Amino acid sequence: MKQLLTTLITVLLTAFSASAKLNVVATTPDIASIAEVVGGGEIRLTTLARPTEDPHFVDAKPSFIAKLNRADVLLQGGAELEIGWLPPLMQGSRNTKIAAGAPGNVQCNAGVTMLEVPSTLDRSQGDVHAAGNPHFLVDPENAKIVAQHIASAFAQLDREHAGLYQANATQFTKALDDHMVTWKAKLAPFQGAHIVAYHNSWPYFGKRFDLNIDLFLEPKPGIPPSPAHLANVITQMKDEGARVIIVDPYLSRKTAETVAKATDAEVVNVTQFPGGVKGSGKTYLEMMDYLIDSISTALATPPNSN
Ligand SMILES: [Zn+2]
Repeated sequence: MKQLLTTLITVLLTAFSASAKLNVVATTPDIASIAEVVGGGEIRLTTLARPTEDPHFVDAKPSFIAKLNRADVLLQGGAELEIGWLPPLMQGSRNTKIAAGAPGNVQCNAGVTMLEVPSTLDRSQGDVHAAGNPHFLVDPENAKIVAQHIASAFAQLDREHAGLYQANATQFTKALDDHMVTWKAKLAPFQGAHIVAYHNSWPYFGKRFDLNIDLFLEPKPGIPPSPAHLANVITQMKDEGARVIIVDPYLSRKTAETVAKATDAEVVNVTQFPGGVKGSGKTYLEMMDYLIDSISTALATPPNSN
């Protein structure tokens, strides 16, 4: 009887603590991977975008509205990354906890030094980076800022586990600092190298690791490549000696290969989301390992050998 009672109490306590867990929704898998580390088993986490999806154009499923309706916290990238798909879902969710300005609405870019912020907002030509470049999380220094930011938000909404969230963010920061030494060393031989990207989502990565990722197959972020623009890129690649083209999983590798053929370049599959391409792992650290390894290997490959 006593044993039965103990079991019953344990079951009830487990059920109670499970229901008390913070319900967290992250828009993209990179933010989710950091939230998972910070949350350390004390949160219930849902990610909206798949790792193979373009974060600017996520397929907004009706089920997202129910997920947002139940959320205690919404973690979004900010800087208009999700402007094309998230606002109607937020409206449909009718959830004041995650409404703009509420403690449960976390804009991850807060505190991050944004790059390419234009002096005037101009979306007239379909430029999806009109509020500055929103792809800041591939700089590990920014991942540290975001982890701290997430820890503070979680702590405010769940004071009982505030210490744990802070400790997890600190541990994540320490792990990034340790990895950074190796990552910097692997890319050090290629300082100043020119790399071509399909979409302009790499300025933070380039700045951190001293690479010039400054030629793009898209004429403007979100605008598909035209033959005239690609011809220009080919000429510039030859001038700069650029031999690596990086492509995210949701963009056309075929277009990149056409350009690569004309320039003796190599196409490298990259991702900003763990699990976005084969070998990119399941965590932020594994994804960064993959990026550093695949890009440094391509840069080390002599021309005409691929
Ligand atoms: Zn973009």
